[in-house]
Amino acid sequence: MQYNQCPVKTNTANLLRSPADACGRLSPRYSFRMENTTAGKADARFMAEAVALARNAAERGEGGPFGAVVVRGGEIVARGWNRVTGTNDPTAHAEVTAIREACRVLGRFHLEDCELYSSCEPCPMCLAAAHWARLKAVWYAATREDAASAGFDDAAMYAEAERPPERRTVPCRHLPEDAESAAAAMRGWAADPRKKPY
Ligand SMILES: [Zn+2]
Repeated sequence: MQYNQCPVKTNTANLLRSPADACGRLSPRYSFRMENTTAGKADARFMAEAVALARNAAERGEGGPFGAVVVRGGEIVARGWNRVTGTNDPTAHAEVTAIREACRVLGRFHLEDCELYSSCEPCPMCLAAAHWARLKAVWYAATREDAASAGFDDAAMYAEAERPPERRTVPCRHLPEDAESAAAAMRGWAADPRKKPY
């Protein structure tokens, strides 16, 4: 069985410039830092579980047909499935719910020693969540094109991220008059010795 693998530890600049190239299909135009992606081999059992969760989510009417599991040391530590409609939470994608559950179970906010198996290629939000969680690797089965043909906007959102902020479907407008006070809050955090870096 062939799975796609998404290198999580990408160069951040490349991720922002072209998320489409940051996941799944490695483009020769970009170089990836692969040292932290112990890609290894995918385990078919874990993907089968993610796909089963996807089917269940749809059948239970909790959300879209997407499932995910977080694996650590050859064992599933958390399961997630899409709960957008069941919880009125547009961010309750399978990958996000699985990451939240893994962090709750393990009692930490980083998952460097974990891999994520997702029934579908992560959308930009979930790819970013994988990045924030510092997951070691992401494996996925269905692609963004499969998601698009089922009516999900993943492919369009990847394209959206590449547009200038002011030309996005949801326009992003910079308010420079507030930039200094907002940046000062960040500088204060950066200089605070009591902070908990993440
Ligand atoms: Zn997502």
